[in-house]
Amino acid sequence: MGRVTHETLDRQATRIVVVGGGPGGYEAALVARRLGGDVTVVERQGMGGAAVLTDVVPSKTLIATADWMTIAERAADLGIRLPVDTAKAQHPAMRRHIVDLDAVNTRVMALAAAQSADIRARLEREGVRVVTGTGRLDGPSRVVVEGGGGAGADVTLDADVILLALGSTPRTLPTAQPDGERILTWTQLYHLTELPERLIVVGSGVTGAEFAGAYNALGSDVVLVSSRDRVLPGEDADAAELLEGVFRSRGMTVMSRSRAESAVRTADGVEVTLSDGRVITGSHVLLAVGSIPSTHGIGLEEAGVRLAPSGHVEVDKVSRTSARGVYAAGDCTGILPLASVAAMQGRVAMSHALGDAVAPIKLRTVAANIFTAPEIATVGYSEEQLKAQSSKYVTTTLPLARNPRAKMLGMRDGFVKLFAHPEAGVVLGGVVVAPRASELIFPITLAVSHRLTVDDVASAFTVYPSLSGSIAEVARMLHHRED
Ligand SMILES: Cc1cc2nc3c(=O)[nH]c(=O)nc-3n(C[C@H](O)[C@H](O)[C@H](O)COP(=O)(O)OP(=O)(O)OC[C@H]3O[C@@H](n4cnc5c(N)ncnc54)[C@H](O)[C@@H]3O)c2cc1C
Repeated sequence: MGRVTHETLDRQATRIVVVGGGPGGYEAALVARRLGGDVTVVERQGMGGAAVLTDVVPSKTLIATADWMTIAERAADLGIRLPVDTAKAQHPAMRRHIVDLDAVNTRVMALAAAQSADIRARLEREGVRVVTGTGRLDGPSRVVVEGGGGAGADVTLDADVILLALGSTPRTLPTAQPDGERILTWTQLYHLTELPERLIVVGSGVTGAEFAGAYNALGSDVVLVSSRDRVLPGEDADAAELLEGVFRSRGMTVMSRSRAESAVRTADGVEVTLSDGRVITGSHVLLAVGSIPSTHGIGLEEAGVRLAPSGHVEVDKVSRTSARGVYAAGDCTGILPLASVAAMQGRVAMSHALGDAVAPIKLRTVAANIFTAPEIATVGYSEEQLKAQSSKYVTTTLPLARNPRAKMLGMRDGFVKLFAHPEAGVVLGGVVVAPRASELIFPITLAVSHRLTVDDVASAFTVYPSLSGSIAEVARMLHHRED
């Protein structure tokens, strides 16, 4: 289909208003435009949304620096020495590279701003209107944008279809109010100009684990406070256990079964009080205790959009809400808080609304990654799910330390694990724990998505030597011989 511009649109074009310019919103806007819609995106913060401005892009850019620091730790094993003067330094910290956090955060923010500007330019190039301001529903077919017009006037947008892609914001505790200086949410970390001396991270889910790992690698003393038995509750147990071991071996203090009750500022730092009365002191505290959907106070329920008790918008498999003509995508739906899933939900919504072919989202084939060192990537059924639904499965794990390429690269911590059906051999899921596991998971994602068998995976060539060789090797180990 050729490109459609506003000038060539006839009056019959479906008027689509997307509220929220994150991955759930902007991807959908592009799809809707290509399908001939008359599209407006309303965004209050900046195009690309939290994903680009405060969450995915900044965190992964910061983690890129942390990764280099982790790799540099292996330098000595690979025969690399620091210049003599530095090597003679008395303090261990002086014998390693040091991080200029101001420079790191300047790079992080510049990259996020550039990506946001690129997305806005692309949308405008494709003929999408962008209105800046906070949108609220006035019934199921009208969006009012506060301050969206000139001189702060409101703008009213009538719509045939509305897509809510509102995202979420960090959850805080009433007894731990962020001040942007010492008590921080993850959106406030990038204003730091100096590395926290002792960072207390409250919450050991994906966000807490990623930042705890990153700041530890950057050179901060890190205390990770986890209310559960182990870090990363809900993730593959072997992977979580391995990561916790790596964290501890790198000098991080991991406090399990410790619930933070409050965080307060002291003269020169912070104090975090645990529910059992213990008090931890640090220079800064990061609250990573989940997110709250941005669905309140903008007329959703009044317009007939049903919300779950958690505040998330209820949607079906093609992203429809309970209000006719109103769709929702991304973190505000609480389906799976991933940028890739948000974008897919948004695309599906627009294809459905504009009468294009739609394939409902299959969450079983979503690949996810935790950007720690090593990374933890997963796809398909987890072992926990297979056990819970009493599925028949076989599994094998191969430690990364046995892989020849890993040995050459000086990598020790990690593994590849596959789950397959015992008779049919179909790959049901997999876990990769390795540096760049996010890249290595793709062959397993293909296998899960296309129902390949372990023999299909094992019979494909891999480069020798390569980390992906371990994936084929595990598949080979799961070969089922017909008697
Ligand atoms: C620290 C962190 C790291 C992450 N890393 C990854 C990762 O590596 N990979 C991954 O896949 N996912 C990651 N995620 C999850 C990912 O950020 C989200 O799943 C993704 O941002 C969801 O996209 P969205 O479009 O639903 O919402 P958002 O990206 O939150 O965008 C929503 C936008 O809507 C705007 N908005 C809300 N209400 C209104 C309104 N009423 N009017 C106008 N505008 C409004 C907001 O300003 C915001 O810009 C991470 C999350 C966090 C917290």
